[in-house]
Amino acid sequence: MIAADGAGSVIRRNAKIPGPRECLVGIQTLIGKEPDGIHIHLGKNIAPGFFGWEVPHHSGTIVGLASRNGNAMDYLVQFLKKKGWERKVISIFAGMIPLGRVNRSIDEGLMLVGDAACQVKPLSGGGLYTGLISAKHCASTALKALEMENNRKEVLKGYHEAWQEEIGPEISKGLWISNIFRNLSDEQLDDLFMILKKEKVKKVIEDQGDIDYPSTLAKPVLKSAPQLLKFTGPFVKSLF
Ligand SMILES: Cc1cc2nc3c(=O)[nH]c(=O)nc-3n(C[C@H](O)[C@H](O)[C@H](O)COP(=O)(O)OP(=O)(O)OC[C@H]3O[C@@H](n4cnc5c(N)ncnc54)[C@H](O)[C@@H]3O)c2cc1C
Repeated sequence: MIAADGAGSVIRRNAKIPGPRECLVGIQTLIGKEPDGIHIHLGKNIAPGFFGWEVPHHSGTIVGLASRNGNAMDYLVQFLKKKGWERKVISIFAGMIPLGRVNRSIDEGLMLVGDAACQVKPLSGGGLYTGLISAKHCASTALKALEMENNRKEVLKGYHEAWQEEIGPEISKGLWISNIFRNLSDEQLDDLFMILKKEKVKKVIEDQGDIDYPSTLAKPVLKSAPQLLKFTGPFVKSLF
């Protein structure tokens, strides 16, 4: 069986496979407003511990957020009101965003894929690319199991190893960076973005940034702006 039943996977729970470390609630709306580029919104009063987004859509603009503390819906309503967009909402969509690394995504005759296996980028909460990468490994292991007429753990573990090898390090690095980020105060965030806005750093981000592998930027960005190292203090604190 392949379980692709989302973050709250009933099949995972029935199989007694431990779930993600945390699950955020993400909410987004389509609003009837001309798109004007991509905007990210940060701050304890906007989306504590995560972020808000504005993304162009062919019938308007998508405005959404996820937060680590408090009620994401309340934050979104507050944000829309502040912008004067609360009467422009066309549709609304909410879901869970699982974050963490799972140690097990298989059982006898069972493979978990997508949000059910927490195959999600911790920095952005995006799970489409990572889920599809993993689905490819899941499909080839399923094929192998069918050919061998054997769906025991010893065959299916190939799937777990393959996706962990391809996206596991990115998820781990993303978790480290997100631990730093979530412990920053608003003042530190302002400070951080003042540094990231510098031409030299912006160029590194533009030249080497990869939306699907955001953590690859950590090293070159730190090299171009070593003063960013001061932000690792909150991460060290978060380990205790
Ligand atoms: C607000 C928000 C915005 C997002 N934006 C992005 C983005 O821009 N980019 C990105 O990469 N990711 C984004 N994500 C994450 C992305 O949506 C998920 O990672 C992705 O949808 C996971 O796909 P999935 O198939 O694993 O699970 P899901 O999309 O949750 O699909 C699971 C399916 O299983 C069905 N199901 C559940 N239980 C059962 C059952 N018992 N029987 C039958 N069917 C069942 C559900 O109805 C559902 O259709 C966003 C998430 C949220 C919440």
